[in-house]
Formats: sequence, C-alpha cells, structure tokens
Amino acid sequence: MEGRRVVGWAARDASGLLSPYSFTLRKTGPEDVVIKVLYCGMDHTDLHQMRNEVHSTNYPLVPGHEVVGEVVELGSEVKKYRVGDMVGVGCMVGSCGRCLSCNSNIEQYCNNRIFTYNGIYKDGRPTQGGFCSAMIVHQKFVVRIPEKLSPEQAAPLLCAGVTAYSPLRQFMGSGKVLNAGILGLGGVGHLGVKIAKAMGHHVTVISSSDKKREEALQHLGADAFLVSSNAAEMEEAANNLDYILDTVPALHPLQSYLSLLKVDGKLFLVGVSPKPLQFDATDLILGKKNITGSFIGSMEETQEILDFWAEKNLTSMIEIVKMDYVNKAFERMERSDVRYRFVVDVAGSNLE
Ligand code: NAP
Ligand code: ZN
Repeated sequence: MEGRRVVGWAARDASGLLSPYSFTLRKTGPEDVVIKVLYCGMDHTDLHQMRNEVHSTNYPLVPGHEVVGEVVELGSEVKKYRVGDMVGVGCMVGSCGRCLSCNSNIEQYCNNRIFTYNGIYKDGRPTQGGFCSAMIVHQKFVVRIPEKLSPEQAAPLLCAGVTAYSPLRQFMGSGKVLNAGILGLGGVGHLGVKIAKAMGHHVTVISSSDKKREEALQHLGADAFLVSSNAAEMEEAANNLDYILDTVPALHPLQSYLSLLKVDGKLFLVGVSPKPLQFDATDLILGKKNITGSFIGSMEETQEILDFWAEKNLTSMIEIVKMDYVNKAFERMERSDVRYRFVVDVAGSNLE
C-alpha cells in the first residue's frame, strides 16, 4: 500500500523559489505520529538550503523545520500521544540511537542524524519539511506543545528558540547576573533576548543598524543597544560581556565582537556564515576568550524551551503569512525586514 499523498511547496533549483509540489509520505510505522501541519516558522537556514548555500541540496526540497500541528493518526506502539494532541517537530526526524551523542541525549550531534528536510530517511526516501499539508515523524522526534501556547506562537521555538536556549541553558540557576550580548536581532536573536532576560541576565543587543533600537529596548526588554558599525560606541562597551550569542547569517569580522567580551568570555556561534570566518589569535589568547559553536538543541531541550516559554509567559514577535506569500517573505527576511519571525499559516493556505 502506498502512503498518503500530500501537497507542499518546494524549491526546484538554486534560485530557491518555492512552488506547489505533490508527493507521497511513507506508510505509518508502529512508532510514527501522523501530523496535520497547522503552522510552520521560516528560518534563515531554510533560505541557505533552498539556495544550496551550505551543503548540497537535493531538489525538489520542501523546507520548514518549525512545525506545529495536530496528531491525526498514530502507529500501534505510540503511547505518549493521542489523536487531537498539539505537537511540534523541529530540525531533526532521526538519529542512529546508538552512538555516544545519542546515548547522552544530545542526538543533535549524532553523525547519523536525519534532518527534517534535505535528509535521507531510513527507508531511502528524501525527507521533506513542514511547508506541507502533513508529515509523518517517529515519536522520539515529536514534542508536546503546552496547552498555554498557541500553535503559531510555539512554532519559532522549535528551531530558533531552542537554538538560543541550548547554549544559554548552562547558565541557568547560577544566580549570577550575567552580561549577555545578542548579536543580530532576527528570528533567533529576538528569542535570545527574551530567553536571556527570563534567565535574569543584563542584555545588550548588537545590531548592524540603528533601526531596531527602540523596539529592542522598549518591546523586547533589552537593557542596552549597540550599533556594530559605531566604533566609538563599541569601544566604550569593551571588556564587559560574559557571552555573545552570534546569530549573523553572513560573513562578518569577529574582532570587534571579541573585544566586547570579558576575560574568559564566550562567543557562541549559531549563525551560519557561508564563507570562513576570521579572527586574530591574540584576540583570544590575551583575554582567554572562547569561540564555540552550538547546533539547535536536543529533543529534551526542545521540550524544555516550550515548557520554559509557557511557564514564564513569554511571547515571540511573529508575522503570520499564507503560503502564496512565502517567496516574498524570504526576500524580506534577507533584508532583515521582519519583526522578527515569519510563520506560515499552512492549514489556512491554498497549497495547490
Ligand atoms: P534572520 O531572521 O535573518 O536574522 C539574522 C539577523 O542577523 C538579521 O536580522 C540582522 O540583524 C543580522 N544580519 C543579517 N545580515 C547581516 C550582516 N551581513 N552583517 C551583520 N548582521 C547581519 O535569521 P535567523 O533565522 O535568526 O537565523 C540566523 C542564523 O542562524 C542563520 O545563519 C541560520 O542559518 C542560523 N541558524 C543556526 C541554527 C543552529 O542550530 N546553529 C539554528 C537556526 C538558525 P540586525 O538587523 O540586528 O543586524
Ligand atoms: Zn547517534
């Protein structure tokens, strides 16, 4: 028996433009959850992949890895969810289940992880993401959306939210008021501000222009705002930050940002520069500074950020769009012309 036929929006080539695409999902396995997609967030990684900018893209590619939907069918062995539950899927739909990372519950670092789209599933089929009417996902890679959260609000937490949360989680409960820097105020950055504030940190936004100053300070609750091209402002703020969450999706020189860190300060790279980044060794050596990468978060952390968000009554700033606006929305995202995350109303869109 063939699996269910679905319709999504796919990129066909490196222009990255999306258009309707129909395909078949696998048959529902015993541990699978069948999800009717309601909302799906739009991440800059979608754009990198649609345009074949990071690693090789297989077309057609249905992007989308901030998926919230309703359970419509369950495999015979799924006990954790019921039909009608609100659930989420992030960047991953599989991993080997046997390696050190998998056994340590950091399956995002498994060398055999399977990405939500542009991956190959265990049955040999390409994986396709959430810009689609339905998905089938193994229960281990499904999380529960807390009742308090609306599905559209929850969507950006499944990638952007957990990406900001995972490196910051190490500071939870330290009781210290840390000086945080959030570099790049986009989808990931604005959630980073909210999470760092909710952890009690003093938050400085570092932005490429002055345009978002007022919003950052007044609506997002940041404590300070720096424009990275303003040398005097940057110099005055030197040696002050405990960490910086770097979300910039483009090539950017690290020197001026490293100078903002205190001794032993940490730069968490989460933004993906399509070209190699550069820094001066002495900038690290003389201040015992650290540069480290961080990739999304584990399934456990994904559930944690959803629960944390609900418990702290946080809200994300999103713009809801229909699928036929998605190409325009990516174009606007590229110009940083979104406050701060697009979320596609998939179920409310005509997908054909
Ligand atoms: P986004 O919404 O486009 O936000 C990026 C922000 O960076 C922009 O709003 C802008 O903020 C700043 N920026 C953009 N271009 C810049 C440039 N040329 N120089 C300096 N600053 C620039 O993107 P996003 O969805 O938040 O994703 C950010 C990056 O994180 C992407 O590379 C994405 O692939 C990556 N990502 C990584 C992970 C992970 O697990 N590591 C997960 C999700 C996303 P200002 O206007 O404030 O300057
Ligand atoms: Zn593994």
